[in-house]
Amino acid sequence: MKSPYIAKRHWDFEEAALSKTNEMVKRYDDVIDLSIGDPDYPADKGCIDKMHEEALAGHTRYTEFLGDEDLRRETIKQYKEDYGFDFDEDEIIITAGGTHAMYLTMEAILDEGDEVIAIAPYYIYYQPQIELPRGKLVVYNTRSEDNFDVDLAEFEKHITSRTKAVIINSPNNPSGKVYSPENVRGILEMAEKYDFLVIADDIYGALNYTDNKKAICSYEERPKRVITIYSYSKDYSMTGLRLGHVIADKELIATMRRVNEAVNFTINSMSQRLGIAAIKGRKEIQKGLYEEYHKRVMYLYERIQKMKNITCTKPEGTFYVFANIKETGINSMDIWEKILDEAHVLVLPGSGFGEAGEGFIRIACTVGIDTLKEAFDRMEKMEIFK
Ligand code: PLP
Repeated sequence: MKSPYIAKRHWDFEEAALSKTNEMVKRYDDVIDLSIGDPDYPADKGCIDKMHEEALAGHTRYTEFLGDEDLRRETIKQYKEDYGFDFDEDEIIITAGGTHAMYLTMEAILDEGDEVIAIAPYYIYYQPQIELPRGKLVVYNTRSEDNFDVDLAEFEKHITSRTKAVIINSPNNPSGKVYSPENVRGILEMAEKYDFLVIADDIYGALNYTDNKKAICSYEERPKRVITIYSYSKDYSMTGLRLGHVIADKELIATMRRVNEAVNFTINSMSQRLGIAAIKGRKEIQKGLYEEYHKRVMYLYERIQKMKNITCTKPEGTFYVFANIKETGINSMDIWEKILDEAHVLVLPGSGFGEAGEGFIRIACTVGIDTLKEAFDRMEKMEIFK
C-alpha cells in the first residue's frame, strides 16, 4: 500500500496467509473453519465470575507499570512449583498476550539490522514482530524427514556477528513439535558461545503430550540469556483476555517497561485479576483443556492414517495437526484453496509458516469431535484423498 501518508517501510509488507482467512471463510455458507488457532473450548466460568467480582471491588484502574503485584507474585510461585524456576518481581512484566510480549521483547533488544533466528516451520507473525523494530529475520529450516528436529551443525551456520536472538517455540505452532532436551541444550550452549539471547515462546506450555515438559527457563539456574514469553490465550483458552507476560533479566524488563509506558501504559486491570484466579485453578482448568485437545488431535491422527496421500506423525503438543500432503503432488497454497472449494473446509497452508512447511497443511482442532468428523468426512470424499 503506497501512500505519502504511510511510512515507506510499511509499503511492502506482505499479507500473511492467516490474514486472508476472514474473507475465505465467507466463500460458502457451510465452511468448517479449522484455520485460526482460536478454539471453541469455553473459558473457565469461575475465573470470569472472579473477574466480575474484582471489577466491582474496584480493580478498574491502572495497575503498577510492571503489572498487578499480586499477579506477579502468583506467577513467581507458579514457576517455582511447576518448574523449580525462581525469579524476582522486577524480572517479570505483565503484557497484553504473547503478541505484545514478543513486540516488547524485540523493541527492547534489537538495533537496526540485528538478526533473530526463527526455527521453521514458525509462527507467521514473528516476521513483522522482528521487522517492525528494524530487525532482520533469519530462517533456519528444519526438515520434515528429520521430524523437524534441529540439526545443531546446520543451525550453527545461521549464526553471524549480528545474531541477537533465537526464538524457540515448543510445543511448536504449526508442527506441534516438542524440541528435545539435546536440541535445547545445544542451542543454549551456542547462545553462550556466540553471545546471543534465547527467546522461549512457551505459549502452548500446558498442551505438551510428551514426557519432556521441562521449560527452557529451567535448564540453567538464574539464566541470563533466556527470555520467556507466555500467554493465557491457549493454555487457558482465553484468547480475548489479552493477558501474558515476559520473564527476563531485570534490565531487559526495565527497558520493556519504558517501551510499554508509551505503547500500552498498563495492562487491563480486570484481566490481570482474572489471571490470578486462573493460575490458582490451573491444575483443574488445564486438565480439561489438555484432555479435550489431546482427544481431538488424536482423532485426526487416526483419521489421517486411513486416508490416501496425506500423513501425519503422532501429535506431540498444541491443538494443531500438521499434515503432510506431498503425495498429492499439489503445493500447499493450491491445496488450501482446493480443500476449501471441494470440501468447504478451511485449513492453513504449511508454506505460510516458512519454506519448511511447504507440502503441509495445518489443521486447527478448534471445534469438537463431531465437527472434526464432518470436516474429515467431506475431505475423505475428495478425489486426491480417496
Ligand atoms: N506465539 C505463538 C507460537 C502463537 O501461536 C500465537 C498465537 O497463535 C502467539 C504467540 C500470540 O498469541 P496471543 O497474542 O494471543 O497471546
